[in-house]
Amino acid sequence: MPLKRGVGVSSGVVIGTALVLETEDVRVPRRFVPSDQTAHEIQLVEKAFAAAQAEVGGERERFAERAGNDLADIFGFHERWLGDEKPRKEIADLIRDKEYSAAYAISVFMRRYRRRFQEMASPFLQERARDIQDIERRLLRHVGGETRMELAALDESVIIIAHDLTPSQLVELEQTKRLLGFATDVGGTTSHTAIIAAGLSIPAVVGLEDITTHISSGDTVVIDGLHGVVVINPDEQQRATYTAEAEHLQEVRATLAELRDLDAETRDGVKIELLGNIEFPLEITDCLEKGARGIGLFRTEFLFLQTDRLPSEEEQFEAYRDAAQQLDGLPLVIRTMDLGGDKCHPTGGWEMEKNPFLGLRSIRYSLQNLPMFRSQLRAILRASVFGDIRVMFPLVSRIMELRQAKFVLSTVTEELEEEGYEFREDIPVGVMIETPAAAICAREIAREADFLSIGTNDLIQYTLAVDRTNERVGQLYSPADPSVLRLIRQVVRLGGRSEAKVSLCGEMAGDALFVILLLGMGLRTLSMAAGNIPRTKKIIRSISMADAQRVCRRVMSFETEREVLNYLRDETRKVWEDL
Ligand code: PEP
Ligand code: MG
Repeated sequence: MPLKRGVGVSSGVVIGTALVLETEDVRVPRRFVPSDQTAHEIQLVEKAFAAAQAEVGGERERFAERAGNDLADIFGFHERWLGDEKPRKEIADLIRDKEYSAAYAISVFMRRYRRRFQEMASPFLQERARDIQDIERRLLRHVGGETRMELAALDESVIIIAHDLTPSQLVELEQTKRLLGFATDVGGTTSHTAIIAAGLSIPAVVGLEDITTHISSGDTVVIDGLHGVVVINPDEQQRATYTAEAEHLQEVRATLAELRDLDAETRDGVKIELLGNIEFPLEITDCLEKGARGIGLFRTEFLFLQTDRLPSEEEQFEAYRDAAQQLDGLPLVIRTMDLGGDKCHPTGGWEMEKNPFLGLRSIRYSLQNLPMFRSQLRAILRASVFGDIRVMFPLVSRIMELRQAKFVLSTVTEELEEEGYEFREDIPVGVMIETPAAAICAREIAREADFLSIGTNDLIQYTLAVDRTNERVGQLYSPADPSVLRLIRQVVRLGGRSEAKVSLCGEMAGDALFVILLLGMGLRTLSMAAGNIPRTKKIIRSISMADAQRVCRRVMSFETEREVLNYLRDETRKVWEDL
């Protein structure tokens, strides 16, 4: 039966009955009112804004209790937008000037407003269009312009199929405890809906393009969030395969969970440090449960991307302190903002760039926006007394950038000292090695840093000249390319000649296929998404360092990606069958 591929945003396999949500945009009839009724219609608009704002506020509070303030702040955008005077004024003008009904004026205004976001080049800003649609639905409901399906009234467990799901729809559905999983036509990994789904461990596949046209309510559907696959009306064999897969995943998880408190140690006694990658402090619990011995990458830009304004120093301080306290003395590597590229802030005054990944991103952006950079460094330093906090600069491509960043750090240090704050004076400073330039000069960079962390997600795209977000060249993006492997090995070697410790925190660290090789190259610290830690530990505990070095020597002699992949697959399968 048909199988559709999209982007898996939350792992897990589930089989269930589909419920297709209305895919049509809300249709509001073009209605006019007599001029003596316009004041009444404007009043309706005012009331609808107030009611919608109160409703969102309530949802945010309820969600914060369950998922923490960081995730709940996704609703902050809705709340602040609804509190703003400008949209109401423009809608009131439409009613007065054109004599539109309240519902029609709202719909006209919102559509124009939404289009502005849809036309923006940044995927992050395009996502905002969906927030706007969500707000429109709420407002129309409050002026009585829409008959809404009551999601809260679901009485059986379902898999939701929708053109799109807004964050609030997802939360509403999840609260019914009837949501098994979902699949949508649109969306990507940076969408708020995807972030929430991952946070709540709901199996989901997004970006399926036209899944709503292939599925009807009542169909049986498989959602494989791990591989990004949806199967429609599975036949007996597919059903059996996926049921077995779901059971198998459960069993594997249970077996791996038994390793939680054991060291990630090779058979000949070499200890490997396994750390977690997070976007929100909320994810730390999961990392610790899966056996992480600290956090090797806290992607702080998500604190910025969640809201429509930059968080204050105080808000950042609280987030970092909270994270450090949860870790209770375990290391916490806080990466300064990696904004730009595909991670743009709506209020950042971003100019659209022709090549955003080669443009003003990451440390370059921070160094050109010093008040923002300084406030982040102040917050990190102030939180440093609450645990083992380390700071890391992303996308450094030349040594002068590291020197400049360290200079800003030292001025912030002096300032805090004068103000009487306590902080860790010798806070370790790390550098991400994400460009070929940095990899080539790793020896010099390592001399001026306390640690290096190889960011393969970017290192691969810059080495192979392949945009990591462009599916048209996706097949060219490979960690197994000999050029990438040589650069990684070079960084480990050059870094090892100084005091600096070298680790790796790109997705490659959590990919089962590369564990043996990375150990063989000399890496002793790997940082990855929580879900990959147990499997990685299992592989490490099954091999000896001599095995790993032998595998590495062989791999480095290959000329093509294909040979590398075939060989690593064979070697890894000897200790991990589920490849
Ligand atoms: C990387 O580039 O490998 C990395 C870890 O950073 P990000 O994925 O956030 O760019
Ligand atoms: Mg990166």
